[in-house]
Amino acid sequence: MGLNEKVPNQLLYLTFMTAKEVLGENGLNTILNYAGLQRFIDNYPPDNLEMGVLNKEFIQFLTGVIGVFGEKGARPILFRGGMRSFEIMKEQFPSLYAMDGIDKHDRTPEKLFGELKRIYQLIVDASVYIHGDIYKYYEDKEGLVLEIAPCHWCLDLKTEGPICFVQTGFQQGLAREILGQTVTIEETRCIAAGDEMCKFVIHRP
Ligand SMILES: [Zn+2]
Repeated sequence: MGLNEKVPNQLLYLTFMTAKEVLGENGLNTILNYAGLQRFIDNYPPDNLEMGVLNKEFIQFLTGVIGVFGEKGARPILFRGGMRSFEIMKEQFPSLYAMDGIDKHDRTPEKLFGELKRIYQLIVDASVYIHGDIYKYYEDKEGLVLEIAPCHWCLDLKTEGPICFVQTGFQQGLAREILGQTVTIEETRCIAAGDEMCKFVIHRP
């Protein structure tokens, strides 16, 4: 996985759509300008899975969000963006997420957590198709753990603290959908901040 690797148009399309919702069109354009991505102003990539944009362009956008809002200010924005991108992907690919037909009322919290574990596995498997075999996913006493190395969310970034908040936001969206409640999710290690991996823990409620 490198900066010049191609990724699906949809990754950037969803990023821009989400940013537009969260920050408004002017906010999005400010970031595109700052990030040197002017060619995408009013000219978003198509919403399809063709490998038509560069990984680098996604990272440039993230760098732009951090540059404009600062690292602390960027985190909640990235988190909201991650939560929103979960909702958009759920609307677009309900079958991938296999969430139709989960009856929350009839399940114990432990069963629902098992359901979350199973569905998140499907998402990790689907992500391998886009980003390669960079994931380690397992359950331990803390909860569900995802390790990413190298990490496509923070490739080439240098930050003071964890920054892969798009990922934690996405996980929160998924957990809330399946468990019916918000859970504690942490990025406990981050390559951008000098760790050897990005590590995420979805705690049991
Ligand atoms: Zn990362």
